[in-house]
Amino acid sequence: MGKTTGFMEFDRKDEAYAPVKERIKNYKEFTVPLKEKELKDQGARCMDCGIPFCHSGCPLGNLIPDFNDAVYQGKWEKATKILHSTNNFPEFTGRLCPAPCEEACVLGINEDPVSIENIEKNIVETAFKNGWIKPEPPISRTGKKVAVIGSGPAGLAAAQQLNRAGHSVTVLERDEKIGGLLRYGIPDFKMEKNVIDRRLKVMKKEGITFKTGVHVGVDIKADELQKEYDSIVLCGGATVRRKLPIPGADLKGVVQAMDFLPQNNRKVDGIPYKGEELSAKGKKVIVIGGGDTGSDCIGTSIRHGADSVTNFEIMPKSTTARPEGQPWPFWPMRLRTSTSHKEGAERVFSISTKKFVGDKNGNLKGLVTSEVFWEKVPGQRPILKEVAGTEKEWDCDLALLALGFTGSETTIAEQLGLQMDARTNISASVKDYKTNVPGIFVAGDQRRGQSLIVWAISEGREAAHHVDNFLMGKSNLPLKGDGDLPRI
Ligand SMILES: Cc1cc2nc3c(=O)[nH]c(=O)nc-3n(C[C@H](O)[C@H](O)[C@H](O)COP(=O)(O)OP(=O)(O)OC[C@H]3O[C@@H](n4cnc5c(N)ncnc54)[C@H](O)[C@@H]3O)c2cc1C
Ligand code: SF4
Repeated sequence: MGKTTGFMEFDRKDEAYAPVKERIKNYKEFTVPLKEKELKDQGARCMDCGIPFCHSGCPLGNLIPDFNDAVYQGKWEKATKILHSTNNFPEFTGRLCPAPCEEACVLGINEDPVSIENIEKNIVETAFKNGWIKPEPPISRTGKKVAVIGSGPAGLAAAQQLNRAGHSVTVLERDEKIGGLLRYGIPDFKMEKNVIDRRLKVMKKEGITFKTGVHVGVDIKADELQKEYDSIVLCGGATVRRKLPIPGADLKGVVQAMDFLPQNNRKVDGIPYKGEELSAKGKKVIVIGGGDTGSDCIGTSIRHGADSVTNFEIMPKSTTARPEGQPWPFWPMRLRTSTSHKEGAERVFSISTKKFVGDKNGNLKGLVTSEVFWEKVPGQRPILKEVAGTEKEWDCDLALLALGFTGSETTIAEQLGLQMDARTNISASVKDYKTNVPGIFVAGDQRRGQSLIVWAISEGREAAHHVDNFLMGKSNLPLKGDGDLPRI
């Protein structure tokens, strides 16, 4: 277990960041790694609690105290094996996870929690550096063919697990490169794309086939695929963007975040993009929506050279401490400030946009807002109300809509006769990820709605177990909470 007195001896130490002035000149990751001794000290802070609440805080059930201890002891290869026994892609979660495990860490009750996410990232980076991440092809093939539609974290996790079980897996992706939102949503300054390419190289050597530029439902009908494959796993994400149906929403300069961000990632990668260039250079930018996507729009606009960046959030400003009624070990809705926020955005809370204002040529020149509050009504969801007399006009020539997603596209569901749920996701129980059509499974955002990378990997892994079970009548692929440490 870590070091018995480690949590009393060492304070939490996080990675540092390159200075704002430097990092906004490019799209590279800007974290400054800790030294090995510092990382071991961080591992030593883990108390190896009788009940490790961090396990249940992590949607993958990562065996956190075990890899913390291995890091403390300098046994990095052992830590790598423990980490990969529950997580196919710790290089994604180690960079991008909001780390619900840390909110559930027992040390976090009265001290800073163990820096689990950063330890995770350093384990996998050490592993890649030392050549410990090797292809793990199956010993034999089952003769069964599986199609995975969509190559985000859910599709990649499902594909790797099913391939390891011996099935022949083909991943079909409509974009020109593999990765889903990891590649075309999340900016390079949060995760450089060679991190995806490095893992894909290993997966290809394991025998997984990747086909890009194939839009299932359009280029090939989903029911044709059904004839060719023994099972299909749908991992197409929750791609339908929420709109803002207010006057002026069609003005030039009102842009969906998911047009702006993917175009920028393509530019950084040197890939041609469709349509007009969307640039924030010299513009007064207002990002509407305060989540991850909003934050990524801020960092990207600042790197474009925006004149100013303002961020609107409809919810009230939370506290940095745990709000009342959200006790440890649950995930609290506290105020989170991202590195992009710190690069120079003004944040405005409890604000709603009422209309966009254009010039005579149809270009956006401003928008009108009101302050809002949420009225609590017993037994009902809170109701959004305007504060009378708080209308305000803002100068703005680029408004980025980062309002989240309303669910999954319906084409494939229609072609296969799949049931959708009330939130327009494809319906399947978390018990077995089965849709209403035998042999068709669904995982990740396409099943649970807009969520997180860690959940997508978790769902991809769990769904793979149930697909394997469907194909073979049994499965040795692990399920969450199987909890066995790998034999090392
Ligand atoms: C801008 C942004 C930033 C985010 N930042 C974070 C973060 O920092 N941390 C975090 O944990 N989460 C973050 N998220 C959420 C996270 O990216 C998603 O929850 C996760 O990627 C979902 O994985 P998925 O595999 O289910 O779907 P996706 O990653 O959406 O992948 C779905 C893939 O399916 C493909 N596809 C869809 N339909 C078809 C079809 N018919 N034929 C072929 N291919 C198809 C799509 O092109 C896409 O590549 C962010 C989301 C966005 C939008
Ligand atoms: S995947 Fe996320 S929740 Fe799980 S251990 Fe890593 S940082 Fe924590």
